[in-house]
Amino acid sequence: MPAKPGVSADAAAAGWQALLHGLPHAAWLVALADQRVVAANDSAAQLFGRSHAELVGESALLLAASPEDMAFWDACAHGERGSLLSDTVVATADGRQLHASRSIGLVGEHHALVMLRDRSAEECAERERESLLSELQATLESTADGILVTDLFGRIRAFNRRFAQIWGLPLDLLQQHDDQAVHAWLVDHVVDSADYQQRLATLNEAALLHASDRLRLRSGQVVERVTRPLFDDGQASGRVWSFRDLTERLAADERIEALTYSDALTGLPNRRRLGQRFGEVASAAKLSNRPFALLVVDLDHFRQINDSLGHDVGDRVLLDVGQRMQGCLREHDLLARIGGDQFAVLLSPADGIAAEASARRLLNVVAQPCNLDGAQFTLTCSIGMALFPSHGSSIDDLVRHAESAMRGVKQAGRANFRLHQARAEGDRRSHMRLDHAMRQALVSNRFRLHFQPQVRMSDGAIVGAEALLRWRDPELGEVSPGRFIPVAEDTGFIVPIGDWVLSQAVRQAALWHQRGYAMPVAVNVSALQFQQAHFVDRVANVLAVSGLPPHLLELELTESILVHDAADALLRLGALAQLGVKLSIDDFGTGYSSLAYLKRFPIHKLKIDRSFVCGLPTDDSDAGIVRAILQMSQALGMKVIAEGVETEGQRQFLLDAGCDEFQGFLFSPGVDSLSFERLLGPPREPVAAPSAIGPDRGGSQRRIRLVRG
Ligand code: C2E
Ligand code: MG
Ligand code: MG
Repeated sequence: MPAKPGVSADAAAAGWQALLHGLPHAAWLVALADQRVVAANDSAAQLFGRSHAELVGESALLLAASPEDMAFWDACAHGERGSLLSDTVVATADGRQLHASRSIGLVGEHHALVMLRDRSAEECAERERESLLSELQATLESTADGILVTDLFGRIRAFNRRFAQIWGLPLDLLQQHDDQAVHAWLVDHVVDSADYQQRLATLNEAALLHASDRLRLRSGQVVERVTRPLFDDGQASGRVWSFRDLTERLAADERIEALTYSDALTGLPNRRRLGQRFGEVASAAKLSNRPFALLVVDLDHFRQINDSLGHDVGDRVLLDVGQRMQGCLREHDLLARIGGDQFAVLLSPADGIAAEASARRLLNVVAQPCNLDGAQFTLTCSIGMALFPSHGSSIDDLVRHAESAMRGVKQAGRANFRLHQARAEGDRRSHMRLDHAMRQALVSNRFRLHFQPQVRMSDGAIVGAEALLRWRDPELGEVSPGRFIPVAEDTGFIVPIGDWVLSQAVRQAALWHQRGYAMPVAVNVSALQFQQAHFVDRVANVLAVSGLPPHLLELELTESILVHDAADALLRLGALAQLGVKLSIDDFGTGYSSLAYLKRFPIHKLKIDRSFVCGLPTDDSDAGIVRAILQMSQALGMKVIAEGVETEGQRQFLLDAGCDEFQGFLFSPGVDSLSFERLLGPPREPVAAPSAIGPDRGGSQRRIRLVRG
């Protein structure tokens, strides 16, 4: 209440007092004239810890003395009038600093009302908020991820430095506060911009969606992006995006993967990777119903390289062989190194025929001459093969079967391939039974020989006989060599059997020779038999005992004999040739020796394998192969005989193509020696002395009319 003239000062003060009591904050009235307090309310008394009476008369500047207060009261003293509203700090009775909002306004002409509103709670909350904010900012900055916060409209609310760093955002772009420009930068810097924008649109439409994906940046970085909705008062108010640079981690993963799944020496996949790939290929094969093949390739006599040339050279050989093999495989085939000198090949898809073709290519590339540090040598390998699913449905089964087939190749003389025989595996007992029966047959003299005529193309004369082993077992009946020879080769029993065949065939040839038939006899020789230390001596001995002129004995060898340990083979063949024995290569074309390779050996004759004759004359590829063999062997001065000739068409084709001789059911199957003699007709003139050793007199070859015209 304003003081009216004539009313006492006390009454006026009491009036002001009552007015001040109604105010919600500490307040006091100051007389402008002396700038002293005229009245104060309870709140003010409480604030300053003084009674009303003590406050009245106090200088206004003593209660609130900030520079602003001082300036205000100074201006007042100079007659200026105005008001003041600002935040200030006052000292309370208990010595606290009180943050307050203080206002000074004029009341009438002679007084000013000072009011203090306590702001300490607000101040406290603000400080709290500020420290929270700075904590948040520090947290944001300390995370290894880039963080971006946007509102529902995509406007940028916050981000950290790592975000700018990952995206390579330039500082000036960030300082422009141009959200559009920042978003455009992001779009420009992902590899698939269209996909990025589409994903963004989807996320913006679904405010509550949590999502994570990977972005590939043009810089080559791979960034993982995770986004979560941001809530304000239970309502989605925007999104938090976090970006994690995975580039280094992925590169490290790749390095670890490479180490885990590859062989340190050759860099080829290892056994673990083979198992992994097997799983993939097996699932695909089950769906497509197409088989695939596993090959186990083992180098022959690799230890000798390590022992004689050192492990460094050994390592380089493995590297070189790995590269050669890789070079002859299809892109999706897998070559792995699974042991010291053992490799595995997963051919997918592949049936037995395709696997065989690959095995031939592998044998061929491995057998190419090596030249390392001035040392020249030839390496060979033995290959075992197993098929999925017929031979096994797990990698372990397939590897086991392929390995056992590979061991079979090793036993039979190495440098060859063999497909796992499910039958032999499935029925080991019958294998053992056959082996036992064979041994009995040899001691009980149940083996016998048949002779199949070899006929000269030009005039139909019988010019030779191939000795073929026959066996009738009392329990098993007639067992074909196709069945028992592989078992004998497997067990090594082929050595005594082969020896028996050699002596019997030579004995028969000597008998014929004595009776005036100068009929050369061809004897099949297995690789294992050929590799026996005393094989050449044995041949010489058998010839000497029988009195057969050596040129009437022909040994039929397989290509694997030549390629395996070529140097040793060359020595033996040289010694046999020296004896005067003829040498031929049986089943030619099924191995992998080239004719140029054969040139090194004293080979007289090649036998074109039955499988190439079979398709003549209509099968173009058979015809082509046969012509090629004939042309090249003519150039090398070797004779050629075709085996398995069953039709006149085949014979005519071979005759026209320049083949020297043939053998086959068209003329005669293998027959016993008496029947063979009947085919020959009477001898021209018997040799006088039964044990005569001397040159063949010739002229005993009989001309026979061909059965079919
Ligand atoms: P091979 O040495 O290639 O012998 C030729 C095989 O073809 C013989 O089968 C023969 O009877 C058969 N053959 C001959 N002409 C024809 C024809 O026109 N059509 C058909 N389809 N087949 C014909 P065999 O006697 O069953 O011998 C099979 C294999 O067993 C021989 O193949 C040879 O590798 C081996 N073998 C036979 N006897 C001996 C032996 O005394 N020692 C060794 N180590 N292996 C032998
Ligand atoms: Mg033969
Ligand atoms: Mg043959």
